[in-house]
Amino acid sequence: MKIIDAHIHFCNNENFQRVGDACGQINSLEFLEREFKAHNIVKAVAMGTRSQDDREPCFPLLPNLGGTPSVENSTHPKMVSYCCGVDSSAIVGSARGKVLAEFERHLSSDLCVGIKIYSGYQKFYVHDRIHFPFYELVQHYNKAVVIHTGDTAGGRGLLKYSHPLTLDELAPEFPGINFVMAHYGNPWIVDATEVAVKNPNVFIDLSGLIEGYFEVDDYIEKYHGYIEHLKTWITYLSDYGKFMFGTDWPLVSFAPYIELIKRLVPECHWNEVFYENAERIFFHNENFVK
Ligand SMILES: [Zn+2]
Repeated sequence: MKIIDAHIHFCNNENFQRVGDACGQINSLEFLEREFKAHNIVKAVAMGTRSQDDREPCFPLLPNLGGTPSVENSTHPKMVSYCCGVDSSAIVGSARGKVLAEFERHLSSDLCVGIKIYSGYQKFYVHDRIHFPFYELVQHYNKAVVIHTGDTAGGRGLLKYSHPLTLDELAPEFPGINFVMAHYGNPWIVDATEVAVKNPNVFIDLSGLIEGYFEVDDYIEKYHGYIEHLKTWITYLSDYGKFMFGTDWPLVSFAPYIELIKRLVPECHWNEVFYENAERIFFHNENFVK
């Protein structure tokens, strides 16, 4: 089975490295290429993330393990598409025009499939008007918007900004954009399910439901209530066109995470969830309206 990983990080960042180390992941291009080959992962979408070299606010946040992606850079692997990370606090004020031009430069290239908003980590609602010029650009270029939803790793974020219900105030404003709720809004799975049911342009990535080292059988035994809860609401949504496989690599290793998602999704829907939906949502958006 071909797989698209709809959510990885591909960035020189010490926090990712620390968790990656704990589950045997080496945060490098060579390691990733080897793993992709082993698991038939043919494409991935990397979320632009702050790198340890970025001391200043930066726009946009970009993946950089193969060098910053650009038309001229041939070392960035073609199988790693990316979303430009939005540093919401850096787009207010006079820098806005310059920032937008830089986003546009990326969004106009094939390798860039959208933008990522770090709600919760950044103290702005996803429906805050400061983001609207960015959504308009995304709409113009027929790309996607990925939104961090759910728990914020560490104590500095604010959960009210990362609640999945915040998307309900945004999605109807831009019906032509595919919005992706990263991490299924975990632990607000029920709310995230309802937002996806109600809004035809809202989708879910199943990344980051677990972080770090785990053995699938042991995990399912220990956290069986959580696993049953996930299965219940995935089944309740009853539209497997809404879900995409994603890992949040390097925070987990591929083999157990693939196995975990296989246990959550009935086999007759694996093709959609592991491959077809991401292909449609990120690479061939049919919702597109100009
Ligand atoms: Zn992530």
